[in-house]
Amino acid sequence: MDSVQHGQPVSVQVCDACDARFDARDARVQCASCEGLLHVQHPQPPTCGVALRESFDARLLPARGPQGTGPGDSGVWRFRELVMPDARDEDLVTQGEGNTPLLARPRIAAWAGVDHLLLKHEGLNPTGSFKDRGMTVAITQARRINATAVACASTGNTSSALASYAALAGLRGLVLVPAGKVALGKLSQTIAYGAQTLLVRGDFDDCLRLCRQSSEQLGVYLANSINPWRLEGQKTIMFDLLQQLRWQSPDWLVLPAGNLGNTSAFGAALREARRLGLIDRAPRLACVQAAGSAPFAASFRDGFATRHTVRAETIATAIRIGDPASHERAVRAIRETDGVVLTVTDDEILEAKAIVDASGVGCEPASAASVAGTRKLVRDGTIQRGARVVALLTGHMLKDPEVMLAYHRDTEPAPACANRSIEIDATLAAVERVLRSGSDLS
Ligand SMILES: *Cc1c(COP(=O)(O)O)cnc(C)c1O
Ligand SMILES: [Zn+2]
Repeated sequence: MDSVQHGQPVSVQVCDACDARFDARDARVQCASCEGLLHVQHPQPPTCGVALRESFDARLLPARGPQGTGPGDSGVWRFRELVMPDARDEDLVTQGEGNTPLLARPRIAAWAGVDHLLLKHEGLNPTGSFKDRGMTVAITQARRINATAVACASTGNTSSALASYAALAGLRGLVLVPAGKVALGKLSQTIAYGAQTLLVRGDFDDCLRLCRQSSEQLGVYLANSINPWRLEGQKTIMFDLLQQLRWQSPDWLVLPAGNLGNTSAFGAALREARRLGLIDRAPRLACVQAAGSAPFAASFRDGFATRHTVRAETIATAIRIGDPASHERAVRAIRETDGVVLTVTDDEILEAKAIVDASGVGCEPASAASVAGTRKLVRDGTIQRGARVVALLTGHMLKDPEVMLAYHRDTEPAPACANRSIEIDATLAAVERVLRSGSDLS
């Protein structure tokens, strides 16, 4: 049932564990009575079914004004009724996030072994990852509640997004990242956008704990993955995708899984999309973890009887998480969609990434886990060759230049897909020698 204020239905924050309800403007991101995670519950939109679809579709033709990006250009705020219904245009901290392309690349499909593979490229968001979708909402919320500073713990992309949106909003940004474990692109963005950057001698899980503690004690608004508004923004990956597919679900949606925020947000988005009659059938979710950071896959194998934690290790730093914050919600998402959870090795991730990159698309290592996972699920017969599959690419290829150079330039012996560059003298003869000898170039 909707909550009501001054005769108007309003959004509320509700505790997952004990159902306690909190005002939408309450700055705490965990339950005040039991410390459970909060989720946001919105009033019923004025329309549903075909009418709601049509109102979202009508906004696909935005009047892009000379002032740059406004709410009409955002693939998050187009779905405002399902994200933050009472946000006013002037509240929004937005820069044209979302609206990411859905790409068909036959070469990648052939490598994965499926006939119909589309890549939803969230790496083409303003700061280069899907984290912008959650951050535009969290920072809009921070401004609505008059926060003066925002903080997060991050494997890197959240801090890039927070730093950028905090700068847009004129708020102080504080980020805690594991020292020496953040990819170069992400770290340099965070610093350059102007956030106060703390390099913590510990791992992501240490950063998250420190961040929670400091927000309680220092009164900083927490824009972590447990922030309920971020998940509202991340739901729009699914709405945006379904809209691109003319509201026809694919058979499978394959995604990399670390802290399980997306898995949870997709579960919630699909639940809502069905309840509101936007779709009549949901895709099956396939969550792909790196073998060295796979607590959720371990839980899946024992039927989710136990919640596992591990010391996380993988080259794919964005999913290097040993104790995922959104475990419970992700379990629900997998159960409701008849989903699966699997692991791929770092070598499989790197090979998939090399294929994605060489197709001209490009993505960061964690993103390639979804393509590697697709191939594995086809090989073991879980995904049929003729199924309609969407793989999520979560981050941009320039996020992690070091991994790419190590793969193509430094790995001995050279991996099958390595593209070695050749240093030459500045003479035409040297160029000719390479061209003549290069079977690569023939
Ligand atoms: C944050 C992130 C992930 C992990 O997503 P979760 O929602 O935490 O599971 C995967 N890939 C990239 C590039 C990310 O930035
Ligand atoms: Zn509670």
